[in-house]
Amino acid sequence: MHLMYICNDNNLIDESKWSNWFDNSIFCHYNIGMIKQVFNMSKCSYCNKRDAEIKIILDTWNGTNRKKITYFVCSDECKTQLELFSGYVNKHVNKFISSILIVILVLIISLCLMVYLNNIRLLILIYSVCIALMGSVFYRYPFATPETCQKYGLRKSIYIIKNIGMGLIITGILGGLTFLLYCFF
Ligand SMILES: [Zn+2]
Repeated sequence: MHLMYICNDNNLIDESKWSNWFDNSIFCHYNIGMIKQVFNMSKCSYCNKRDAEIKIILDTWNGTNRKKITYFVCSDECKTQLELFSGYVNKHVNKFISSILIVILVLIISLCLMVYLNNIRLLILIYSVCIALMGSVFYRYPFATPETCQKYGLRKSIYIIKNIGMGLIITGILGGLTFLLYCFF
């Protein structure tokens, strides 16, 4: 696809010359904010491909509150996936936040308790369980920050958060096994 964009100084920009801009530092002559906007608009919010032209507005969670946000997608498939995930976020965001807060609270309380009781084995057990729980929360609710979604696209962001979740679950299990070794050997 061959596209022409208009920058703030009314220059027409040929998309095929974009790569040369950076090489030749012509980039500096144009309004950087405008260029960023053009780049963001052209990327698919789901799969991160260029030239996304389907515009959709979703009432969704943006990290702090719910509001109407404009997205661009490259296909009907990406549009459906984005809408489904947006619905999933809206439905589960309160559970996600409360689960994270509960796990952090348990970690803080158990740390205070462990300092008082001076029992390293119990500390390992509780921390392992909490880390595994935190991992399962991330795996079940793979909600990345808006910045991450913008940078990598939603599909890759979900993949990243699910892998972090899986990593935490494995760390928690290994911690639990360490506790068993402490107990029986
Ligand atoms: Zn896409």
